[in-house]
Amino acid sequence: MAGKRIGILALQGAFIEHENALRKCGASPRQVRTAQELDEIEGLIIPGGESTTIGKLMQAYGLDDKIKARHAEGMPIWGTCAGMILLAKEIAEIEQVHLSLMDISVRRNGFGRQVDSFETELEVEGLGRSRGVFIRAPYVDKVWGEARVLAYHQERIVMVQEGKLLATAFHPELTEDLSIHSYFLEMS
Ligand code: GLN
Repeated sequence: MAGKRIGILALQGAFIEHENALRKCGASPRQVRTAQELDEIEGLIIPGGESTTIGKLMQAYGLDDKIKARHAEGMPIWGTCAGMILLAKEIAEIEQVHLSLMDISVRRNGFGRQVDSFETELEVEGLGRSRGVFIRAPYVDKVWGEARVLAYHQERIVMVQEGKLLATAFHPELTEDLSIHSYFLEMS
């Protein structure tokens, strides 16, 4: 049986690594660049990269409204790093295009600059130990409504779920750890 069709928004950033991780989990990943491709998937990952660039391209290709419409029909979305920024309703101190779907406020580059990138172990609520790489990562400085915190790093919120929306400030796809990909597949 073919695995779940999970799309990875492939406009810019770390999408190949998600594709590889999903394949290892038995899913059928596909790169998504058009509105039509968004109709053919059962879940969507918005990868890490540069959130301003991904946001502008998403809008230029008319994908932002389509992503919101598919989510309104129940399609799960997972945003990693820049993807988390694009899901947030609030971005501290910066104006930029975003999807504004999740009841979280994020602070871009909250963990410092590129040189401050690091890999670490995280304790994820309900999943146990996971690994993630932080690269100029944001953190969440506020959650409200139905948003639930799933992990902290150094007392900062770095993973949140709200119904069928999942956000991680870090990149699990750059490690060998498949636990969060498996979790997202269960949500999809
Ligand atoms: N700092 C980037 C941004 O603000 C995110 C970095 C990442 O996705 N690894 O968009």
